[in-house]
Amino acid sequence: MFQMSNPIERQPTERTIYLETFGCQMNELDSELVQGQLVSLGYTFCRSRTDADVVLFNTCSVREQAENKVLSRIGELSVEKSEGRTVVIGMLGCLPEREGNRLLRKYPQIDFICGPSELDRLPTLLQNTLVTEKLSTAERAALQGNRSRRSAALSAADDNLELLDLSRVFDPDFRQSSGRSAYVRITRGCNKFCTYCVVPNTRGAEVHRPPDSIIEECKKLVESGAVEITLLGQTVNHYCYTHGVALGENGQEVPQIGPGLTAFKKPTDTDQTVTTFANLLQRIHDEIPNLLRLRFVTSYPIDFGDDILEVMRDCPRICNYLHVPAQSGSNRILKKMNRGYTVEEYLEFIDRARKIIPDVEIAGDIIIGFCSESEEDYEATRELITKVRFKNNFVFHYSPRPGTVAINRFEDDVPREVKKRRLNALLDLGAKISAQVHQSYEGREVDVFVEKVSPQSVKQRGIELKWEEKKIQLSGRTSGDLICVFDVNSEAKAKKLLGTIVQIEITGSAPLLLKGVLTTTILSK
Ligand code: SAM
Ligand code: SF4
Repeated sequence: MFQMSNPIERQPTERTIYLETFGCQMNELDSELVQGQLVSLGYTFCRSRTDADVVLFNTCSVREQAENKVLSRIGELSVEKSEGRTVVIGMLGCLPEREGNRLLRKYPQIDFICGPSELDRLPTLLQNTLVTEKLSTAERAALQGNRSRRSAALSAADDNLELLDLSRVFDPDFRQSSGRSAYVRITRGCNKFCTYCVVPNTRGAEVHRPPDSIIEECKKLVESGAVEITLLGQTVNHYCYTHGVALGENGQEVPQIGPGLTAFKKPTDTDQTVTTFANLLQRIHDEIPNLLRLRFVTSYPIDFGDDILEVMRDCPRICNYLHVPAQSGSNRILKKMNRGYTVEEYLEFIDRARKIIPDVEIAGDIIIGFCSESEEDYEATRELITKVRFKNNFVFHYSPRPGTVAINRFEDDVPREVKKRRLNALLDLGAKISAQVHQSYEGREVDVFVEKVSPQSVKQRGIELKWEEKKIQLSGRTSGDLICVFDVNSEAKAKKLLGTIVQIEITGSAPLLLKGVLTTTILSK
């Protein structure tokens, strides 16, 4: 049975909200900001869709599968609505940004839509929907559409999203997992236009936040209990803030449109007017000594200078980890994808990274079955992943996306079963390499940031195993982002270790896992 609620009887902020997030870390962060914003206005969140007065979906448009999932949820809710359930449905993120009002026309059950660049307007949109019986289509949509690729530096000055990032509330106890790890966005959007990708259309042009705002946000997060921060950007190493260009009404620095790609040809060290990505990492590391781990994703394999690698090497609290997608091992396909580098350039970057940071672990993304991919191209990708020895790769089969260059210009001509076969075989090869990478840690001691009670342990605790000593398995990550599990023998101990960094001797491994025993309890808190 569904809860019935009469909109007239209750204040809008007395409604409970269910929020489901699809897609990448950017979306996870957006959802966290949306949740913080709505909680501060008095709304409460619940963990069950059926108990909610308002259901929000933060959508992803990068691959078709994620879209299909959310549309099937809409289908289920539509049936419930037609059976008499009163529920407000809001669609946030990349899917409504791409589809716009077409989505409202096709799915009239959706009450409002809100693109990723308009999330600061969400409370007003929700409030209007809750107090007004029927809004016009225009009133139900907060989208930037074509305006999202704004052209002038100063037009980003009245950017209310900056306030959304800065006003976030971080509550480690409120979060479901990895409670002491937080994301901080340093750039929004993307200027690269890979031919398969919707992101430049749905997230707009690259906008860089002022370094002081980023550092202020990181400091606040650490004061509220964050131990690890991951900086987010689609091409995070492109971060580059030119001072004195974009100023707000009272002279403070505001987000600015990213410079053209030539600007990434490394500004000189003496140029005081620019904060590069290397400068930003150094500042966060030095100005926030209580931040125990600093990471960043996603890196682009070119425009990645030695200055960044050297800062990583010299700052002990910056993790030895790079997520740097290659996408393909074939130069022909890379060109067709408009990635802007060759396999040789990619390998040169990996060599340079390993020379400067010998312990660095590398992860990546691969797209299988991109338009016209031959067996030869596919073999070249296998060769690349064998050479690089990734700790892991996220492998996707190509999904044609509306609005991209690839869907308009190239035929999606690799048959589905060929994509499937290549993907599975690549996953097998990746697992073998990953197993070797993990095995190479056996016998070593590593520092592990303890994140959670492992899902394995949670399952077992449902059953009382009285004849066995009760062990609790904790799970965390090394600086190189390898998952590591180990046992402790009491709940009190497990609780004490969560959110700390401990030393673990590695005694065993699996393709995506290290197993070990605790040697030094708390290295830091
Ligand atoms: N900015 C990052 C970069 O350039 O490496 C990646 C961001 S994208 C949201 C995440 C991953 O999704 C990409 O690295 C790519 O492997 C995958 N992806 C993007 N568009 C895709 C498509 N149309 N089909 C399949 N995978 C896709
Ligand atoms: Fe998409 Fe390419 Fe930008 Fe990554 S760099 S977000 S894959 S367009």
